[in-house]
Amino acid sequence: MQQLLLIYTGGTIGMVEDASTGMLKTFNFDNLLQQIPQLKTIDATIDTISIDAPKDSAEMHPEDWQYLGDLIYNRYDVYDAFVVLHGTDTMAYTASALSFMFQNLSKPILLTGSQLPIGNIRTDAVENVLTAIQLALLQNKGIPLIREVGLYFGNKLLRGSRSSKLSANQFNAFDSPNYPFLASSGVNLKLNEEYLLNMSPEKQLEYKPKLNASVFLLKIHPGITSFQFNAIISSLNTKVLVLETYGSGTL
Ligand code: ASP
Repeated sequence: MQQLLLIYTGGTIGMVEDASTGMLKTFNFDNLLQQIPQLKTIDATIDTISIDAPKDSAEMHPEDWQYLGDLIYNRYDVYDAFVVLHGTDTMAYTASALSFMFQNLSKPILLTGSQLPIGNIRTDAVENVLTAIQLALLQNKGIPLIREVGLYFGNKLLRGSRSSKLSANQFNAFDSPNYPFLASSGVNLKLNEEYLLNMSPEKQLEYKPKLNASVFLLKIHPGITSFQFNAIISSLNTKVLVLETYGSGTL
């Protein structure tokens, strides 16, 4: 029997409406599991764990990626697959960070979340969670088919490091404009095997938890002046400046 670890970090998926104020607040992870009784019918042992203080993903920092990475790394040999429930706003960043922290993965780490809270009658959470779990459990002769960090949302599995959130309203909220989907979910689950990372499962996992967060991203836009550009650059106490430029790198 396969063993999967479901990790809850926060986000809309685990929110509930406060009856008196109408505001969203986080609720108990056990309640989240009660909302998805289908989990019990999946042919795998699913253990769950929540970070101490689940948070809106806008509050995720590189230290949280490290915490999450350690949590997975310390249990890497125990589980066959990992599914991380995460807020959508910065899910693509966390997926990307994890994909650089975990090199030579021999099992999947899939992130998912939802646009509507799990208690909402029209929620997208149930499909997202169940399908992410099913994809994570796909194996061929005991070897996981997905051996990388992926992001599952709105019927598509994307490479974690190529994904972006494109919509705050659509259930189909993520895309990977510069890389094909790794899988799609309709009546059947369809893996695009030719696009999956095909690292030998024999390769030794390399875990690189140390991150240098001294990075700044500057988006170049029409109207930016050399005065502003120079002011930003000279005031930055950073080690790395990433420039988001035009076309093929025009400044
Ligand atoms: N603000 C929320 C978050 O990123 C949005 C969501 O989960 O959809 O945590």
